[in-house]
Amino acid sequence: MTTPNWHEKAAALRLETRSFIGGEMVEVGGGHFETINPATGAVLAAVGQGSAGDVDRAVADALRAHRGGSWSRMAPRDRMAVLYRFADLIEREAELLALLDTLDMGKPISDMLNIDVPAAAATIRFCAECIDKITGTTTATPANVLHYTTREPLGVVAAIVPWNYPLLMAVWKIAPALAAGNAVVLKPAEQSPLSAVHLARLFAEAGGPAGIFNVVNGPGETVGRALALHMDVAKVSFTGSTEVGKLMLQYAGQSNMKKVALECGGKTPQVFMNDLPDLATATKTAAFGIYGNMGEVCNAGSRLLVDKKIHDEFLYGFMRESENFVPGDPLLEETNMGPLVTFEQQKRVLGYIEIGKNEGASLAFGGNVPQGLERGAYVAPALFTGVGPKMRIAQEEIFGPVAAIIPVDGVENAIEVANDTIYGLAAGIWTTDLTTAHRMAREIEAGTVWVNCFDEGDMTQPFGGFKQSGNARDKCFDSVLAYTQQKSTWVKLV
Ligand code: NAD
Repeated sequence: MTTPNWHEKAAALRLETRSFIGGEMVEVGGGHFETINPATGAVLAAVGQGSAGDVDRAVADALRAHRGGSWSRMAPRDRMAVLYRFADLIEREAELLALLDTLDMGKPISDMLNIDVPAAAATIRFCAECIDKITGTTTATPANVLHYTTREPLGVVAAIVPWNYPLLMAVWKIAPALAAGNAVVLKPAEQSPLSAVHLARLFAEAGGPAGIFNVVNGPGETVGRALALHMDVAKVSFTGSTEVGKLMLQYAGQSNMKKVALECGGKTPQVFMNDLPDLATATKTAAFGIYGNMGEVCNAGSRLLVDKKIHDEFLYGFMRESENFVPGDPLLEETNMGPLVTFEQQKRVLGYIEIGKNEGASLAFGGNVPQGLERGAYVAPALFTGVGPKMRIAQEEIFGPVAAIIPVDGVENAIEVANDTIYGLAAGIWTTDLTTAHRMAREIEAGTVWVNCFDEGDMTQPFGGFKQSGNARDKCFDSVLAYTQQKSTWVKLV
């Protein structure tokens, strides 16, 4: 079988620049913003930017559709059928969706085809399966009284999402919200606006009623803010930086006390004890954990806490494994590292390389713009050694392919350093000692802990953060329930 020519396919695309409101593609009134291909610097499209009026229109259409009951009161079986068809259509349009995110934010096309698109379809199917498992309770009452609880949808949910997995992060929000019977207004990140409208279009093609799934493109400071402040939005479900997550809480307080679900940043520690099971697997997994998706991953294993006793062997193994990550053209299937999302992000990451050097850490390799790729927003995978736990490169989320080895001395010290950030999204632990493994799993403050593995996950299991990494959980049945509210009904039997 010959490999498709993704450049030819990309050149043949007609990019959709409108938003999707009330069941159709619409021109919006806030002007336009450019989206740039970070692999080349070329302008891809001028995308319509939503105005305050467009946000109002989308929320009003969503509320009307919600109250009309065509979705919220649809028989569970029928709602399930729509979502199953929706998942099938995502698979039918896998190439289009993959190309759009690759062009927009630089992710390798092979990651889109093998990870993001299949995971998006699987998420929707899982959420569809949850629909007829949403139940209530009846309680012991006197004989002349009946009491039962029901779970009802919230109403209009605003989903505000980042650019690192444009399709998948959107689906982690909209799929459970739709499954629970809500209407949604999705705001994609302005760095990656192209794929979201196709999701909404495919939902409509699958039989989703008009107004139930809307997309308004535009910047966070205008469109995102207007949604989060909107009096008719019942919940804002946000994935993005901790800084903006805190704003979401403020907006809710300033408006209608809407529910706020936050999935925010991370600075994930991976602890490598001297009794780890297999150094080759550990270093290979560690390299993938920080260089996969160009390090633009909320749970990227950016802090490598290496026991002093194995420091040199670990360093040698990690350096060898890192050679497998080679920045290149994301439209070639063999490429496993594309550019960073924007030139601004490239500048930010290169800035952290300078910060690390000035703080006294040693740059073991990388952190430069690779030769021959100067046209794009590329940064070569980098490693700092001799990093102190209080250095900025050990504390702040860089969101790029920059790893830091922080030497640690024994279990106590490793736990202390692991917990010494504002974040608590995830952690990795490598040891064959059962007691160390369980003790660290219990004492490290993180929403997900991996023992002798990293990045494992499944739709059935929750994902989210402790501390300033967030206050919610995506995935799993609970994520569907989080888009419902309980009602208590008392019936007097007269
Ligand atoms: P960001 O916070 O800058 O933006 C996220 C979204 O919020 C975008 O849609 C943006 O337009 C919007 N926004 C920005 N300012 C806003 C404002 N004032 N009002 C309303 N909306 C606003 O984050 P980003 O740079 O797009 O994404 C990277 C961040 O996302 C990282 O911190 C990463 O860790 C985090 N992330 C977390 C998870 C998780 O599950 N915990 C997953 C992926 C990414």
